[in-house]
Amino acid sequence: QYILGIETSCDETAAAIIKNGHEIVSNVVASQIESHKRFGGVVPEIASRHHVEEITLVLEETMKKANLTFSDLNAIAVTEGPGLVGALLIGINAAKALAFAHNVPLIGVHHIAGHIYANAIVTELKFPLITLVVSGGHTELVYMKDHGSFEVIGETLDDAAGEAYDKVARTLNLPYPGGPHIDRLAQEGKATIKLPRAWLEEGSYNFSFSGLKSAVINTLHNAKQKGEEINPQDLAASFQASVIDVLVTKTKRATEEYKVKQVLLAGGVAANRGLREALHAQFDDKSDIQLVIPPISLCTDNAAMIAAAGSVLYEKEIFSDLKMNGNPGLELRTY
Ligand code: ATP
Ligand code: MG
Ligand code: FE
Repeated sequence: QYILGIETSCDETAAAIIKNGHEIVSNVVASQIESHKRFGGVVPEIASRHHVEEITLVLEETMKKANLTFSDLNAIAVTEGPGLVGALLIGINAAKALAFAHNVPLIGVHHIAGHIYANAIVTELKFPLITLVVSGGHTELVYMKDHGSFEVIGETLDDAAGEAYDKVARTLNLPYPGGPHIDRLAQEGKATIKLPRAWLEEGSYNFSFSGLKSAVINTLHNAKQKGEEINPQDLAASFQASVIDVLVTKTKRATEEYKVKQVLLAGGVAANRGLREALHAQFDDKSDIQLVIPPISLCTDNAAMIAAAGSVLYEKEIFSDLKMNGNPGLELRTY
């Protein structure tokens, strides 16, 4: 079974072919980070224009590397949402055109279902499981009792983890995207600065990072007014410690309450070294719960994860028609 995946929800133009739901046959990503850097964030119009320029080349390369033709495909899976609507539409229109021309089924995939299914490429999923999703736009704990079954048990009430990283990085004058830079600084510093942790109501699996972000900004501001120096490494380490403390503690509690077999990590912030280490320490070899963390190339946006998630919908015969539209507010639901 060969599924072609297409992903254009944000600033990566990506296509990939996955065999039998988990084997990568080819996986091509064209990143636009360089074009958005000087604006300090993703500019939607620029993103759409790059997707138009790249999509055909990326698809050609994906097919060539796989040594397959379109008639070998069982289905074409494409990110339907959430994301930037103009960006989503480029991938969706390419997918529709190919599906129509080659008479192949079309499958609409939720971007976060994709991030979660990056883990299925690494290992066989065992249910029930909990996924900690930490990306540029999402911070969620997702419970799954079977393939294609997604229950969001907690989510951020304000900023996503990646968003908080990028905003804190900007106040420290670090380039976009700031997450990796904060991660690097944090390794060099000590978490000596007192910063808040938003636990929210007792038993809540929700998150909040805007208070922490404001506390970092206030710390810098107050020091400046008093003419004091703040060590950026220590500030980064303190910020990262607060984020990781809340993420890991809530994830651990969820795995106990839901009695899971596996805990998965998903999304761009899964690339964070501190978070990976903290999870490994919490779910070590002696733990009954298996920790799964994809390689960094499968944590950030890619199309292999979209094809892997699409393969589950293919098995369930959940297809889309040519009326599919980009849906920036698409909700993660059970299929
Ligand atoms: P979403 O998936 O929610 O639609 P997105 O696709 O834009 O958002 P991803 O590509 O999954 O987000 O992740 C990008 C985010 O990951 C950025 O905020 C970036 O700063 C963050 N990030 C990447 N590497 C690291 C790291 N090492 N430490 C912390 N954050 C990181
Ligand atoms: Mg991106
Ligand atoms: Fe993403």
